[in-house]
Amino acid sequence: MPAPESDDEFAHRIASEAAEMLAGLQREGVAAGKFGWSLEEIGDTAAHDFLVAAIAAERPDDGLLSEEGHDDGARTAKSRAWIVDPLDGSSGFGAGNAEWAVHVALSIDGEPLVGAVSVPGMDLTGSTAHPPIVPERQDRRPVVITGRTKARSDGRLLAHMLDADLAACSSAGVKAMLVMSGEADMYVHDGPLYEWDVCAPVAVALAAGLDACQTNGDPIVFNKSRPVSDSLIICRPEFTGLIIDALQSR
Ligand SMILES: [Mg+2]
Repeated sequence: MPAPESDDEFAHRIASEAAEMLAGLQREGVAAGKFGWSLEEIGDTAAHDFLVAAIAAERPDDGLLSEEGHDDGARTAKSRAWIVDPLDGSSGFGAGNAEWAVHVALSIDGEPLVGAVSVPGMDLTGSTAHPPIVPERQDRRPVVITGRTKARSDGRLLAHMLDADLAACSSAGVKAMLVMSGEADMYVHDGPLYEWDVCAPVAVALAAGLDACQTNGDPIVFNKSRPVSDSLIICRPEFTGLIIDALQSR
């Protein structure tokens, strides 16, 4: 009998399968002239239904939190809770671009121990089963990546304080993977984010040897009754102290 699939491999597989399905739906939608909210809705629903069915079938005793599902809070009584964003960056998906990802994570006693972030636009699934190999830092100015709305205020100030260049992207999963691929050096979001935005990227980043914490340096605890993280840093370890100091000195 084959060995049972590990949680890490299960997360990797279902995130990759959901992302592949979504890439097909996006191609079909764009070819049919469908954009915006109606395409986002198709993607959100299809990926949510697929992930919920897979988790219910193969990990039936675990809790579940999905951006697209109703949260009755039953998960908070469980040690193991799956935290999924079926389509992270749905506006990019609806716009027909590549700035979107699928997030699948498992929190065990509040710790982000298992995760997978699948980014078809980068032809990449990073996971705790197969953590990305973060390349040596390139010989260039550091790059800070942040959300499009954050770029205007916090991002610009932080880039100035760290003498870094600024990049923006609307998907948390893609931003995290750009740090892991070496195209950016730090992803900083100084404000609240939902746990489904954060849990899988943090799990994968930690497995890849990056730092992942709140902007005060505290670790992020998951599967809380109010599923929100106050902030997020994912970065090469040499930048963690600099980011925390810069944000505190504002
Ligand atoms: Mg989403």
